[in-house]
Amino acid sequence: MSSSPVARHLDEVRQRIAKAAADASRDASSVALLAVSKTFPAEDVRAAFDAGQRAFGENYVQEAVAKIAELADLRSEIEWHFIGPLQSNKTKVVAENVDWVHSVDRLKIAQRLSEQRPDGMAPLNVCLQVNVSGEESKSGVAPDEALALARQIAALPFLRLRGLMAIPEPAGTLDEQRAPHRRLREIMDTLRADGLELDTLSMGMSADIEAAILEGATMVRIGTAIFGARDYSN
Ligand SMILES: *Cc1c(COP(=O)(O)O)cnc(C)c1O
Repeated sequence: MSSSPVARHLDEVRQRIAKAAADASRDASSVALLAVSKTFPAEDVRAAFDAGQRAFGENYVQEAVAKIAELADLRSEIEWHFIGPLQSNKTKVVAENVDWVHSVDRLKIAQRLSEQRPDGMAPLNVCLQVNVSGEESKSGVAPDEALALARQIAALPFLRLRGLMAIPEPAGTLDEQRAPHRRLREIMDTLRADGLELDTLSMGMSADIEAAILEGATMVRIGTAIFGARDYSN
């Protein structure tokens, strides 16, 4: 087995997930790990791949497309997730290159992604991003508008609405961290009760994996704990 730093960190993250799942009386296999590789080079993605990781998340369109191209030899084995803010003029390249988008929060973006998904590719998996932390954050649909938007997105032909995503404000204690994650899960419950078939609750980052899993996360998005601290200076 490889013992690269990335491989060791991945192992630690898998252990955190297993422990949190056990604490929540959940099966660890019900929590998927998305490795967030933004700002890190393709070699680090390759190291994680060699350690068994297959799902990777990127935030910036240009960087994502360049990295996907650099790792073209692994394309059929890697699942690429776009998790960053998405503007309408960038939807086409995203629709053509990734398997999932977690950050859909407007109908217009969803419509463009559906129209621009190439023939012959599987429907694009999407999550609706919900703003569960209130005014501080600008991204995400308001909780009371989530149901109406989810219904509209679910009706688009070349998308598959999988669930909800949130980026809660950082919080101190476990209880404080759990509150916004619980809110997202409750919104998901409402959408399901309405008949939408959703299976993905994308929540939990390096600092709040445990809180998210205790509240039902099915996909945690982990960057720092796997790849290290990000350097934005270049
Ligand atoms: C950067 C990022 C993450 C990963 O955050 P870490 O704290 O580094 O684990 C997860 N989700 C989104 C949307 C991000 O932008």
